[in-house]
Amino acid sequence: MKISEVKTHVIEAALSEPFYWAIGEAAKRGSCIVEVITDTGLVGWGECFGPARPAAAMIEAYKPWVIGADPLATDKIWQDLYASFRDQGQKGVPICAISGIDIALWDIKGKHFNAPIHQLMGGPIRTEVDAYATGTYRKQSGDPMEYIVKEVLGYQAEGFIATKLKIGFEVNEDAALIEAVRNAVGHDFGLMLDANHGYDSIDAIRLAQKVEHLNLDWFEEPVPPEDLEGYLAVKASTSIPMAGGECEYTRFGFREVLKSGAIDYLQPDICAAGGLSECKKITDMANAFGVRLVPHVWGTGIGLSAGLHLLGVIPHNPPGRRPWEPMLEFDRSEHPARQAIMKTPIEHVDGVVQIPTGPGLGIEIDRDALASFTVT
Ligand code: CA
Repeated sequence: MKISEVKTHVIEAALSEPFYWAIGEAAKRGSCIVEVITDTGLVGWGECFGPARPAAAMIEAYKPWVIGADPLATDKIWQDLYASFRDQGQKGVPICAISGIDIALWDIKGKHFNAPIHQLMGGPIRTEVDAYATGTYRKQSGDPMEYIVKEVLGYQAEGFIATKLKIGFEVNEDAALIEAVRNAVGHDFGLMLDANHGYDSIDAIRLAQKVEHLNLDWFEEPVPPEDLEGYLAVKASTSIPMAGGECEYTRFGFREVLKSGAIDYLQPDICAAGGLSECKKITDMANAFGVRLVPHVWGTGIGLSAGLHLLGVIPHNPPGRRPWEPMLEFDRSEHPARQAIMKTPIEHVDGVVQIPTGPGLGIEIDRDALASFTVT
């Protein structure tokens, strides 16, 4: 079997209501979807996180190393692609592009062996996962003290065990919101914070000290991703665990993060950090360092499915009678294409999501829906 073609589908969909967070905003959601086609007719699907058009351009540049290759040789292809742009492409879009190709190759591999990806990676260690709801973005109008409390109560009513509050705006306002949400949901509901690296370490420490008593599960991206010393300063100031990693790439990048001891919950994005091949390695590295791992997931159903397969092989560390279990990040914010491009959407039941069991990613793409969102 040989790879005969690699296609990219850059998709975009306008939101009914734009939303924003500490360092950015969205009026539309998009993605670079990758389709790898083989000479036997088997097709695999992947997705790249981040800016879609640059990822598609990068995939075009990788084609000479992909076309004609054996799609089952996932590590060989990964190494060829990484080596081809190593000198200028160790982080960012070049790795997001490799990620999309790699996920598609694992989809092909699973279809070839008629097995789900998590089984080929040595699992399942678990067959279903608790999901936490990602949302709480800011709207253009209205009082966040009202609409975010209402949104979180909705997640609790749906059965989710936890949610994540978007902060990183202003310390006192953020602290007031966290307190209002905690009071509304009670102390048994999981609450995490995500500053989207909108603070520096001074403000992150001030915030952590104001809300530490509110039983918070983690403080995600308190400071910019490059500022590991900042992470360490925040970590030293509080008992709230540090989370981060959605802006980090490959085993080499995560090696430095793990060595630093700055992060307690590692959050590689499978569609960004190097795909399933690389995130399995990062998962095992995290295990060796005794660091918990909860994948970052913010894409379409393709990225969601890839996240679920990785969750199927995250080891218990340590194994025990009631070991800590990783959660699925289940994005509840508006994304018109997320489930629409899937023939069968991935849904939760009372906050629990099943890991797909079909061959490969275990999903089918609705080509008509995909075409309806495709801009290039
Ligand atoms: Ca985040």
